[in-house]
Amino acid sequence: MLIQENKHNNSTFSFMLLVILLVVGTIMSLQLSREKKGAEGFTKEETALLSSGDSVMYVLNVNDPDDEKILRTKSLQLGAKALKSKEYESLKAKLMATVNAPEYGGVGIAAPQIGVNKRVIAVQRVDKPGEPFEVYPDIQIDTAFGAPVPGFEGCLSVPPLRGRVFRHPSVAISYRDASNYKLCRDTVSGFAAIIFQHECDHLDGVLFIDKADSVFVDDAWKAEYDSFAAQGKYLRPQH
Ligand SMILES: [Zn+2]
Repeated sequence: MLIQENKHNNSTFSFMLLVILLVVGTIMSLQLSREKKGAEGFTKEETALLSSGDSVMYVLNVNDPDDEKILRTKSLQLGAKALKSKEYESLKAKLMATVNAPEYGGVGIAAPQIGVNKRVIAVQRVDKPGEPFEVYPDIQIDTAFGAPVPGFEGCLSVPPLRGRVFRHPSVAISYRDASNYKLCRDTVSGFAAIIFQHECDHLDGVLFIDKADSVFVDDAWKAEYDSFAAQGKYLRPQH
């Protein structure tokens, strides 16, 4: 009777274990597919941010702990489908408007700097006629060429500091054509190569202050920064 009961209990236990495993397995696979979906597109928060009307965005500041979390997060690829979305068009427009705004005026900006952890950057191609700004989705640096050389850098997310950073004089980059997701390649040299290295670092959560061998306050930038701050232009918008 006892053995019988044990047998009964054992089979009930096995059945329950199977049910639990199935449920856990289903939850895990749902979780994985959600994560996969998240990796191939904008999150709900990013979609909300990109749907807002402002074209010039608040630039995240490393001195703000909430901003720093986003700036220090590794950005994900967008994927073919997201590159055809209206959110991507909005991201491009916002990056361009922000980097060109008088209160910012940079030579490059990365999506995490406006709160979007995706591998998209805008770079002023100072090596091309007319020095146009161009946007590069799902970008990476494939190879860096030449011995690193020192140069002074600043960052819209690290005001009002500058620092001396060693960068490679040339880089080979690859990114995606937004219309057909075709892989595009380019080799860039000189100051444009420095901008690509700085902006691609942002996509890995790396800031120039991590690499700089000396950092100092840029007084001219500080004066400009303080004047815009007095106008409230650097304040985080309330949502
Ligand atoms: Zn930067």
